[in-house]
Amino acid sequence: MSENQELNRGKNLAYYCQHFTKLKTSNRLGPNAEYKPILLLSIIDLITQGLINNNQITVSEELRSTFNKHWDILSSGTYEGKDKLYFPFFYLKSEGFWHIEFKNNPLKRPPRSLEKFQDVVDYASLDPELFELLQDQNSRKELIDVLIANWFSANQKDIKELMVINERFQKDNNEEESSINLSNQQKKQPKSYLRKSVVRDGIFRKAVVHTYNYKCAFCGMKVTMSIKQNIVDGAHIKPFARFYDNRIDNGISFCKNHHWAFDKGLFTITDDYKIIVSNNFLEESPNSKPMKEFNSNQLWLPNEKGASHSKQKYFFPIYSLFPVPRSGVP
Ligand SMILES: [Zn+2]
Repeated sequence: MSENQELNRGKNLAYYCQHFTKLKTSNRLGPNAEYKPILLLSIIDLITQGLINNNQITVSEELRSTFNKHWDILSSGTYEGKDKLYFPFFYLKSEGFWHIEFKNNPLKRPPRSLEKFQDVVDYASLDPELFELLQDQNSRKELIDVLIANWFSANQKDIKELMVINERFQKDNNEEESSINLSNQQKKQPKSYLRKSVVRDGIFRKAVVHTYNYKCAFCGMKVTMSIKQNIVDGAHIKPFARFYDNRIDNGISFCKNHHWAFDKGLFTITDDYKIIVSNNFLEESPNSKPMKEFNSNQLWLPNEKGASHSKQKYFFPIYSLFPVPRSGVP
């Protein structure tokens, strides 16, 4: 470990995950005002898209419109937050990892309009350790999952809200797609904000794995950790990159191993929920049941009482990136 790494050891991914669960909210606005998590999610989205590419985050038009878009989709509607980007941008400094550079003298309160705020604030920067972590896809995913799990899905009621949020993302996505189809001008520079949104992916994953009670549909494995993290991923049955379908019916929950195997086409699933395993791979599994022994098994599906939708509504086309031998299909 280098001297630098030694010094920075405290500010690692676990540190920021923990910090993101405990964002301070204003007494006046109430304990659940979502301003700060929505701003952080917006910033992470813009970093992922390469629209924030250095650690001097300005009150830009992109940040304003991304924050507003997320506010429309994610907020509970209890607070007026749209166009109030200056609130979280200013008060996030109380968290210690967000540092504001003012153009002149530092202010104690934010001016009450975005234009005035832009006049006094030069930029904000994240802790360099946090900005560095946000350049990594896996760390971003983990930080997004922590924000969503803590701020938008903490209890059963919030999970229902999450389903609604997922539908709103899908609806906006469909509208965006039709506007892209309508206009050649937009085709040249497609406004594909929602398709690229890592926040949308996070909401979809969370809603899917909750529907499956955090179990792998292939092997039934369930492992959960204290900060609401678990071993399963919400995956798309029909790949999102081709079908843009983020409805829960197009989601399935797999543990890390079986998610990877599904994406690589090592098994597929039939429309009557059976697993068909490919013969085209080698497997050694001395301490657990080999994948090939799951051939012809039924998938583990959410029970109808717990699920937000009935089993009959599932649609499982036989799909895989590499076609599996069809001889085994019943
Ligand atoms: Zn599994």
